[in-house]
Amino acid sequence: MVSQTDAIVIGAGINGMVAAAELAKAGWKVTLVDGNDRIGGFIDSGELTVPGYQHDTFSSWHTLFLGSGAYAALGPDLHRHGLKYCDSDTEVGASVAADGRVSLCFRDPVRTAEGFADPADGAAYLVALGEMEKHLPVIGAMLAGEPRSVGNLKTFTVGWRKSGRDDLEDLLRSTRR
Ligand SMILES: Cc1cc2nc3c(=O)[nH]c(=O)nc-3n(C[C@H](O)[C@H](O)[C@H](O)COP(=O)(O)OP(=O)(O)OC[C@H]3O[C@@H](n4cnc5c(N)ncnc54)[C@H](O)[C@@H]3O)c2cc1C
Repeated sequence: MVSQTDAIVIGAGINGMVAAAELAKAGWKVTLVDGNDRIGGFIDSGELTVPGYQHDTFSSWHTLFLGSGAYAALGPDLHRHGLKYCDSDTEVGASVAADGRVSLCFRDPVRTAEGFADPADGAAYLVALGEMEKHLPVIGAMLAGEPRSVGNLKTFTVGWRKSGRDDLEDLLRSTRR
């Protein structure tokens, strides 16, 4: 098998699968191997609660993939093979804590904030969200770019100049807390 292969990709998580698919699309013969009995790495699902209900077991927020170059290149093929994202107009997500408390996240941020037990937390959430929204073009472009690249440095520098030095820097510092 290996002698007929142009590339061997080890690890069938999203990065390995994208690399293998892009090489195959470019005409390479690719062998993709994984130590697990399921492909997907940290993208997986399973019946964690009620029988019949599938939950994301690790990653769940796939928006970054949808905005990526990989999705632009492979999206039509993936949909042809059955990929389908089902969006909800109401609840976007739920987080369950070990003690059984649940936070619900809605498309409407105000509705999400209303769900916080302490109104002060809800208000802080809206402020933090507003700060992030202000810088979303820069954050989005950097997340879609190569992390340690000249392109990302340029995006950051342009955003930094536009927003004023302190503003963007404060936001970046706050994300490290
Ligand atoms: C709990 C959790 C929540 C997350 N939530 C999000 C989210 O909401 N949104 C988001 O964008 N990202 C999220 N992430 C991050 C995201 O899951 C990872 O960035 C992504 O899965 C990385 O993909 P990968 O292909 O690099 O590695 P992995 O997904 O780790 O896949 C690596 C694969 O390689 C295989 N492998 C490793 N070594 C070998 C070997 N020597 N031989 C054979 N096979 C091998 C493994 O079995 C595995 O299948 C989350 C991660 C975790 C853990």
